[in-house]
Amino acid sequence: MGEGKDLRDSSPTVYQALRQRGVSRRDFMKFCSLMAATLALPASFAPKIAEALEKAKRPSLVWLEFQDCCGNTESFLRASNPTVVDIVLDVLSVDYHETIMAPAGKDAEKSLQDVVKNQKGKYICVVEGAIPTRDGGVYCCVGGRAAIDIAKEVCGNSLATIAMGACAWDGGIPSANPNPTGAVGVKDVISGVPIINLPGCPANVVNLTGTVVHYLTFGSLPLTDNNGAPLFGYGTRIHDACQRRAHYDAGRYVRQWGDEGHRNGWCLYYMGCKGPETYKNCPTALWNDRTSWPVGAGHNCIGCASPKFWDTMTPFYSRLASIPGFGVESTADKVGLGLAIATAAGVTAHAIARAGRKHIRHEDEEKTAKTEDK
Ligand code: SF4
Ligand code: SF4
Repeated sequence: MGEGKDLRDSSPTVYQALRQRGVSRRDFMKFCSLMAATLALPASFAPKIAEALEKAKRPSLVWLEFQDCCGNTESFLRASNPTVVDIVLDVLSVDYHETIMAPAGKDAEKSLQDVVKNQKGKYICVVEGAIPTRDGGVYCCVGGRAAIDIAKEVCGNSLATIAMGACAWDGGIPSANPNPTGAVGVKDVISGVPIINLPGCPANVVNLTGTVVHYLTFGSLPLTDNNGAPLFGYGTRIHDACQRRAHYDAGRYVRQWGDEGHRNGWCLYYMGCKGPETYKNCPTALWNDRTSWPVGAGHNCIGCASPKFWDTMTPFYSRLASIPGFGVESTADKVGLGLAIATAAGVTAHAIARAGRKHIRHEDEEKTAKTEDK
């Protein structure tokens, strides 16, 4: 892939675009610090990111929506932090996005075709939603064309494609059993271009921005795990960064919504929390203006960044499913560690999915049960 500075030579640099929109130098540096933190880099990298964004041209970006609920677009539009709505719109030059663009109908289609034709191999394509493959792909058509045909053309001519959210990654909810439309993720129908997957329902826009900023700063896409997800956003287990972890370790659990443990912010393991099985930076990246995240707000993680989560992580309010090979005495920690090893070893998502359907008893559950039996 070429250097970031080669992109859109006639457009302003990221920094110039930000300044034109009235973003102060101070807010720009705060954004660079946020990006350094998001990319799991030392704070000392913020000036290097700033220097790169001062020179880098804004990458042209097209955003395709297929079998989706628009949740990732909602996440994108609610990008926050001081002036981040501006920053996101300026770091990325969004040339086609059906939900937010002004043109409609044939004019909209022309906008897309113009990018594909005039910026071949230079634009970033973001895909939101799954792609149906059954019956020639007729279950999702845009402008009279099947999603699969559009994806092959637009993703296939991109510099890189980013699959935003669970559905674009592995088919997500549209592909849940019995998958009537034959829905699949982008990686299942596109080859020949780099694909970055951002699992989650929705994905956090900070990971999209981080991916682009990484490219603009270092001239390469971020390192990924065997799911094709960037390690900076998906390399840490939720359970290990969770603010309720001390309660887990101390055996303090919520047993019922609204009980004393819930009011005191104790661990949600027994309410079905899938944090021990899920890898994503929610506890540190946070949501809603970086104010909180689901577990912080009192709800269990439902494992939305896990493979085939709608099939493998349900029921959402039951205890952890078991992983064969760990036995009934396994702790959540052992299960999480085992998943990490399995992932590193390249075990397929399907194998993990199948593995997640049986039941274990948590070590603390055993102790509690014994105590209660006395
Ligand atoms: S089980 Fe859930 S709530 Fe408890 S520490 Fe782990 S991630 Fe946090
Ligand atoms: S806390 Fe869990 S369910 Fe919620 S967004 Fe993060 S990974 Fe998904």
